[in-house]
Amino acid sequence: MNQVYGDETLWKILEASKDTFGDDIVFLCSFSNEDMIILDSLCRNKINIDTYTIDTGRLNPETYEFIDEISKRYEIKLNYLVPESVPLQTMLLQNGPQLFYESIEKRKLCCKIRKVDPLSKLLCGKKAWISGIRSTQTEERKRSKMYENTNGLTKINPLIEWTDEKVNAVIQNLGIPSNRLYDKGYRSIGCQPCTRPVFPGEGERDGRWWWENGSKECGIHTSNFGDSQ
Ligand code: SF4
Repeated sequence: MNQVYGDETLWKILEASKDTFGDDIVFLCSFSNEDMIILDSLCRNKINIDTYTIDTGRLNPETYEFIDEISKRYEIKLNYLVPESVPLQTMLLQNGPQLFYESIEKRKLCCKIRKVDPLSKLLCGKKAWISGIRSTQTEERKRSKMYENTNGLTKINPLIEWTDEKVNAVIQNLGIPSNRLYDKGYRSIGCQPCTRPVFPGEGERDGRWWWENGSKECGIHTSNFGDSQ
């Protein structure tokens, strides 16, 4: 009998995804606890799926340090998605570096240029991607399923039904490293200017764009990526 490492359900989903999509599947990792569970399972079980992270240029120092630590510990070759220089320069020239505090539209513009567009470009050439979102995180994610297909692109959300308690238990039981921001009261890992620790009673993404009233999504989990873009 094959030895199964870590969470068996997760392991099987990841392996089946690799078998189905081969080299045309990628894993998008933000180095949240959820994404660390997926990364750990890929590495433990030697499932060779390319891992990408979006480097917006505005992440917390703790996250950059964590990326270095994890890359060495798991001996992974991490791929970086970065903003295109011309639209980024235009945005900065027209709006300055702190535009996200001025309006929701400007915040969404920054998220589009720094996150959504680089991911869209990558996914245009792929058939599937893996994400660590969970249904309890936002209103939009409550409607997400384990497998979603838009424009010929499959999105696999293997942790969609996991609870916060299960995430924390797996992190502890398997000794999976965790971003130090969690020890500082953060419950979601995002860009430094747009994320703060949460207060007792707040939801786990209430520290994202806390000055806004509305969606706690940047766009990467609400956009219809795929061939038709
Ligand atoms: S989270 Fe903030 S800094 Fe990061 S891309 Fe979005 S608006 Fe820009």
